[in-house]
Amino acid sequence: MSKYWSEAIQSLTPYVPGEQPKGSNIIKLNTNENPFPPSPMVLEAIHQFDTDRLRLYPDPDASALKLSLAEHFNVKANQVFVGNGSDEVLAHTFMAFFRQPQPLLMPDISYSFYDVYCNLYGIEAKHIPLQDNFCIVLDDYAQANGGIIFANPNAPTGRALTLEKIEALLQRNTETVVVVDEAYVDFGAQTAINLVDKYPNLLVIQTLSKSRSLAGMRVGFAIGSAELIEGLERVKNSFNSYPLDMLAQATAIAAIKDNDYFVETTQQIITMREWTNQQLQSLGFKIIPSKTNFVFASHRYIEAAELMGFLRTNQILVRHFSRPGINNHLRITIGTEAEMQAMIDCLKRHPDIIS
Ligand code: PMP
Repeated sequence: MSKYWSEAIQSLTPYVPGEQPKGSNIIKLNTNENPFPPSPMVLEAIHQFDTDRLRLYPDPDASALKLSLAEHFNVKANQVFVGNGSDEVLAHTFMAFFRQPQPLLMPDISYSFYDVYCNLYGIEAKHIPLQDNFCIVLDDYAQANGGIIFANPNAPTGRALTLEKIEALLQRNTETVVVVDEAYVDFGAQTAINLVDKYPNLLVIQTLSKSRSLAGMRVGFAIGSAELIEGLERVKNSFNSYPLDMLAQATAIAAIKDNDYFVETTQQIITMREWTNQQLQSLGFKIIPSKTNFVFASHRYIEAAELMGFLRTNQILVRHFSRPGINNHLRITIGTEAEMQAMIDCLKRHPDIIS
């Protein structure tokens, strides 16, 4: 607290991201980064980049990037919005659409940033409980609302909804904006992007941080009706007209272009995820079926906090959430084959794990 702070910021609760350690001998499975380097086309774009251009401001509309995303997803360029990571796209989305008299509906266990933005912008949230098996039940979202947001697949549970369920919600809920946060969709779930032309109140948000290995560049985007995108542009332009720096725009275009690399690396992560699941199960873990680049697991006898600490002393970072309902689970990002093997070998050394 400081006497210089305005009342508005006194009560803000910051989002606490997973640790970003400085040391190099650490196996980092705590923030769902991609273990593969960015596509060789991204490296090529960096080598080709004309640094003299850095004197100039970047394209405020990121037109070339929007065009490449529009072509890739078969929509028009005015249906695409880009921002510094999907976190920024989410921030603008909350500001643009969810400051309503009715509460925003969201799952009670989901990406914790949603509550941070509600807090920041004074948006009332209504948290809808998940089922005991962590499934989102969209039938429960049939009440008056100022908007709906959920992640598909959900985080940190990793469970995915089918498109049929999402479409049924869209048929019922036509008066307010429905946001589907698809940060992890490429690891086995179905995207709702194909529904945006049919439902003008649907906004789909994705990121290049996960399946495109570009977390460090901070590129996220939203796809929806031109009407929703215009709303987002209004908010963005009142904050900062330059959403993405030049290098981020150039590398994002290259990452989208290299579809073969994307398909190949994503498939390898999915294969490694299934291997990790099997290994964890054989060590006494219960697994939630995941459609993401992480697994969400709880051990039958050993507390998650204890296991996280044990892995940590062995230089392996995984994520543990202290909030009730999920505090006996670990969220483990899928890393390289060697990293996953090291994580499993480490768990086998735990005195209470029988392998
Ligand atoms: N949505 C979800 C569900 C996430 O887990 C994350 C990553 N923590 C994000 C959005 C934001 O990702 P980024 O800002 O890197 O695009």
